[in-house]
Amino acid sequence: MQKERLYGKTLNELIAVTKRVGLPGYTARQIADWLYKKEILSIDEMTNLSKRAREVLTKEYETGIFPPVSESESTDGTKKYLYNVLKDKYIETAYIPDNERATICVSSQSGCKMGCIFCMTGKQGFQGNLSSNEILNQFRSLPEFQSLTNMVYMGMGEPLDNITEVLKSLEILTSEWGYGWSPTRITVSTVGLIAGIKEFLEKSRCHLAVSLHSPFDDERKELMPIQRTNTVKEVLDIIRNFEINSQRRISFEYILFKGLNDTPRHIKELARILNGIKCRVNIIRFHQIPGAEFQSPDLGTTINFKEALNAKGILTTIRASRGVDIQAACGLLSTIAQNKQQ
Ligand code: SF4
Repeated sequence: MQKERLYGKTLNELIAVTKRVGLPGYTARQIADWLYKKEILSIDEMTNLSKRAREVLTKEYETGIFPPVSESESTDGTKKYLYNVLKDKYIETAYIPDNERATICVSSQSGCKMGCIFCMTGKQGFQGNLSSNEILNQFRSLPEFQSLTNMVYMGMGEPLDNITEVLKSLEILTSEWGYGWSPTRITVSTVGLIAGIKEFLEKSRCHLAVSLHSPFDDERKELMPIQRTNTVKEVLDIIRNFEINSQRRISFEYILFKGLNDTPRHIKELARILNGIKCRVNIIRFHQIPGAEFQSPDLGTTINFKEALNAKGILTTIRASRGVDIQAACGLLSTIAQNKQQ
């Protein structure tokens, strides 16, 4: 029988576990302490729990911390890890060191329903939501875990399409009984799911990154089918009407495609629709994927685009391309691993 995993449970869920197996309520805090502060791997290592308590727990539960199945390292130090989840699926996790910072990019789903046409994960289709255990295990079992300073939910899947498990993982990362991270170290990305954004803004204090990619309705519909039902205008209205505290950052991700969304017309419209929102735009150069006709613009065009937006008062940066030699485009490695299995 598959045992239930303790790692990835919130304090309230751990209290429910202790009640269920007949242990005193205070044991839940002790378990949380072992799981999230002391980095043990097995229930038997929870030495301030009585022997009986450990035996009772072990009958039905395990910690559920598991290592990646493979890793590859780029010449620039970026690493990609593959994890086996949902029995026979693969997800990707990236480790991105950058001077003082070390960022982990986690996946929230296996595959994705959103179907963005420039994305390899989108081409996989949807295979399932990751549990809070599977999301946080990418963080905990990363060999570089101790050095991590930041976390982004920008790997495979649409995080706000799996909002319950994502919020649980954020609660564990930011609670005093959990990892105690500041929410300002964590960014969650979204294609712009209206209901999810509202819930995320209300229930979490982490940063939000919205994938924009075009300010024009018809063009964005072509790139991102979500625009048919959840428009950027609605997303911007929510953000405008929500009281965002000064610590919290709203950013817009903008993949630049040569000749498609890199023109002066786009700059003008971006500046218009983002006017009045305290935000930043992150320009990302497109990572080639098999079968896609898109191309990256040259560096000069990218810099000009950034400077033109800055000149219009929109704080804009260019995100450095990392790990290009190790299939940096999200979804490539797991697609290869899944194909090998078939
Ligand atoms: S870009 Fe993100 S939301 Fe779009 S298909 Fe890929 S993983 Fe899904």
